[in-house]
Amino acid sequence: MKHRISILGSTGSIGTQTLEVVRDHPQDFEVVGLSARHNKDLLAAQIHEFKPRIASLECGVALPGLPNGCRMAGAGSEGLCEVATHPQADTVVVATVGAAGLIPTLAALRAGKRIALANKEVLVMGGEILMGEARRLNRPILPIDSEHSAILQCLQGENLRRIRRIVITASGGPFREWPRERIESACPADALNHPTWSMGKKITIDSATLMNKGLEVIEAHHLFGLPVDRIDVVIHPQSIVHSMVEFADGAVMAQMGLPDMKIPIQFALSFPDRFPRRDPPLDLPALGSLTFAAPDLERFPCLAMAREACRLGGGYPAVLSVANEEAVAAFLAERIRFGDISRLIEAELEAFSNPSALDFETILEIERRTRESVRARARG
Ligand code: MG
Repeated sequence: MKHRISILGSTGSIGTQTLEVVRDHPQDFEVVGLSARHNKDLLAAQIHEFKPRIASLECGVALPGLPNGCRMAGAGSEGLCEVATHPQADTVVVATVGAAGLIPTLAALRAGKRIALANKEVLVMGGEILMGEARRLNRPILPIDSEHSAILQCLQGENLRRIRRIVITASGGPFREWPRERIESACPADALNHPTWSMGKKITIDSATLMNKGLEVIEAHHLFGLPVDRIDVVIHPQSIVHSMVEFADGAVMAQMGLPDMKIPIQFALSFPDRFPRRDPPLDLPALGSLTFAAPDLERFPCLAMAREACRLGGGYPAVLSVANEEAVAAFLAERIRFGDISRLIEAELEAFSNPSALDFETILEIERRTRESVRARARG
């Protein structure tokens, strides 16, 4: 039977690579829904190639000449939710960026869909609520993030109570060997020059600050139910070992492979099965050596802030994630310096205190207030 999938964020880096996976396995996958933010030309081309039943464009621009059997959903979050809950889809690939994926992911879960999640901010902000719903409804949230896919692969057939710790690997980003002062004033072009992975802009900046790793620690905390002090980060510049699990007996399982997002995307879609791929094999002798180092929290304060936000829990991870989203946008627009990203986030975390209870509406309110506050600080 074919897997019937909807893709939220189909024109982005993960979205287009998901469609490459679909193209490689036409007998296994059928596209039911596609959704994009504003790239209408690419979305139109995808609609004509994959013939989904439903599509949406966040900006609300009309697409003329849709093929028979495809209809446009509404604009904005409403359209995303329509695509996410279409009755014909069994799996929803959430490849949106930032907080935008939160509402449609919850809607998809509640509509009984399997979630293949690339949008890590969704779990960082609403992890407790989403994992609670996933357990209640008995629907899986399968990670597309390469590190979490690696951990999931290491855990197949294992007893989760026998995990001693998780070790998440990080490439270290483009500033791994830069001194602090040079990092401080790095420009967007420097930060967008990632050494091993080809990704969207926001996550590439997050890799340069190491906030991406911080968000991944929080993501792992929710996905695998471990406290933050049992989730470590190690710098591994070659990006071949995608993450590791250490068990109670001291054995360490690692998942390795070339840094190609199509592998974790395909695993999330084929899980628990594996489908063949024809990429070149991993050539270890050609690589020669794999190296590992501890992260430098002085030069990359975002990682320590994310760990602390995870420890404090409640609304802190949402503040961290939204403040980071806004700070990265301000940096890409050249309104602030690279070093200001971590300072803006720190100021938001310091000004925040946890509400007594954290429901979904409270998270959305935290999001709104944090965005306003960071924008004001970035202007000042
Ligand atoms: Mg990752």
